[in-house]
Amino acid sequence: MIFCCLIFFYRIENRAILVKISSKYNSSLLLNRLRLLVHDTILEIDFNALYKNVTYFRLKLETDTKLMCMVKASAYGSGSVEVSRALQYWHCDYLAVAFVDEGVELRREGIKMPILVLDPSVDALERIVEYNLEPEIYSFRLLDSMLNLLRRLGKKDYPIHLKFDTGMHRAGFEENDIEDLASLLKNSSEVKVVSVYSHLVGSDDEVFDEFTEHQISYFNFCAEKIKMRLGYPVLKHILNSSGIERFSSFQFDMVRLGIGLWGISCLDGNLSNVCSLKTKISQIRKVKSGDTIGYSRKGVVTRDSKIALLPLGYADGIDRRLGNGNLSVWINGTPYPTIGNICMDLMMVDLTDAPNIEEGEEVVVFGSKQSLSDIAEKLATIPYEVLTSISPRVRRVYFDE
Ligand SMILES: *Cc1c(COP(=O)(O)O)cnc(C)c1O
Repeated sequence: MIFCCLIFFYRIENRAILVKISSKYNSSLLLNRLRLLVHDTILEIDFNALYKNVTYFRLKLETDTKLMCMVKASAYGSGSVEVSRALQYWHCDYLAVAFVDEGVELRREGIKMPILVLDPSVDALERIVEYNLEPEIYSFRLLDSMLNLLRRLGKKDYPIHLKFDTGMHRAGFEENDIEDLASLLKNSSEVKVVSVYSHLVGSDDEVFDEFTEHQISYFNFCAEKIKMRLGYPVLKHILNSSGIERFSSFQFDMVRLGIGLWGISCLDGNLSNVCSLKTKISQIRKVKSGDTIGYSRKGVVTRDSKIALLPLGYADGIDRRLGNGNLSVWINGTPYPTIGNICMDLMMVDLTDAPNIEEGEEVVVFGSKQSLSDIAEKLATIPYEVLTSISPRVRRVYFDE
């Protein structure tokens, strides 16, 4: 069995790998072997957990509410192609990416679902049409460019989505634009408005609930006005992950699920951890009391110590502020602190108190024991940033049982 895996591995060396294991086999044993072959440092993505999280959110929705899954920024760092294939297989209704290139990649890899592009540039509209992507239209300038292009190409009823600004004050139309927008659209058979939407600024925090409710009612007002003027059915949507958890009565026709897919809940929702960052110990060395570890002599050793070297650093997405004991990594179920500054490609951990740990042992930086949220908290940031910071050189390994 291991031999087969070896051949399989070398043939697809530069590809993402999805491991499907029959329940006949000991999956953790096999996976560990495979992991060692793949790379010392991996981001492991658990499709069973991902599916459970999709189900958790679906259960908060009416059966006819559509589910759009946000796979921007390489599906929050997890790999947009593999994740999108799974979401397509599970019959999610829509995907959304930030930029056109992200959508093009999905099309080239055979994703057939409708794909919304949140931040199309005027210059990228031709590629949008070429790859059958659906642009968010947030300004008259963008709409004019789109209409001109479609006229030139002789296209009719091209799907577009209108974004309204209800308080974020990034992109979007507002109430004053509705008259002009509606008349322009009524006279433009080149496009068909699939949906009207807006984005909540603080749906995860009750401090902002009054503002959230204001956003929702203002959005509903604008969306209904546009719908009425257009005279055909248009989807409305405003809820992101925490919106689904906390404001599900405003799910309208569709919701946009992002960070919740990765197991982050703003309530104490029963979500599963999807991504684990793992590596293994390259070396264990003895260092004498009084010596220092790493750059700038930051890691001062106050007793004879055992120091483990790990093959990942800030270039892999381990924030440099996690050095000098600000993070512990998990080995054999026990946390051990970093010592010294995090280097570009390496980091060191103090194993002095660990009796039986050997070189080659698996190390978990984040996963079910220490969550993305725990690390985000240490860095005074949000889990989104921790996850999307894991660099592309960390191999993504997918598994599904
Ligand atoms: C990223 C994004 C979402 C998803 O937000 P989460 O908080 O990750 O659920 C929804 N809508 C828009 C417009 C987004 O850009």
